[in-house]
Amino acid sequence: MIFGEIQKVDILAIGVHPDDIELSCSGTLLNQINKGYTVGLLDLTQGELGTRGNAEIRRKEAFDAAQLMGAKFRVILKNQDGFINFNEETSISIIEIIRASKPKILFANAKSDRHPDHGRAAKITADAAFLAGLEKIETNYEGVKQEKWRPNAVYHYLQDYTMEADFAVDITPFFDKKLDLIYCFSSQFDASEQNGPKTPISGKDFLDYIQAKNILFGRLAGYKYAEAYQVNRLIGVNDIFKLD
Ligand SMILES: [Zn+2]
Repeated sequence: MIFGEIQKVDILAIGVHPDDIELSCSGTLLNQINKGYTVGLLDLTQGELGTRGNAEIRRKEAFDAAQLMGAKFRVILKNQDGFINFNEETSISIIEIIRASKPKILFANAKSDRHPDHGRAAKITADAAFLAGLEKIETNYEGVKQEKWRPNAVYHYLQDYTMEADFAVDITPFFDKKLDLIYCFSSQFDASEQNGPKTPISGKDFLDYIQAKNILFGRLAGYKYAEAYQVNRLIGVNDIFKLD
């Protein structure tokens, strides 16, 4: 299922469940879009196991959020929610989108988190970024033979667990719009219970927690609000004045 048109983008943000991206790295994406960079979104499952909503409702919510964010496209794959695992079919489905969108930077789930899908998806996504650069893995997407492509970097956004981060991104001017993006997923985050029973993420306390984390990471980096990331390899910079 696709919103928009798959095209070359600067950043491809990947989450195993529709709403992982919004909760964890959407402030960063809004910041980069505001600076003129292009962004694509990829959800590995439809989130069909969520206590509230269903695949159809979550698809509409995810596409609304993509539009509000200003993303060029959003793809929702049909891997099995709750049981995402490394296998050829899942890997190829991710490699196809990486090769079709040629991102320089890939955002992926947290390497370890409360939801067991997140850690598995983090590894599957990082592996797919590597495998997408291997010539002898041949893929055809919509009838077109694809060229190899390996993103320069994979950054894992922190989501539920608070872990030591490798860098933080200032999202202060975009924090309110990040909340608007999260509220696009009204089936998940409506505290009134009109969309179903209370869940650990449906109440205002969960969004307060997200805000508190953005304040915590911001405080540590010298901003009001920030999102935080872990890396797989040492990151470098050739001008130390580019670091805050
Ligand atoms: Zn999730």
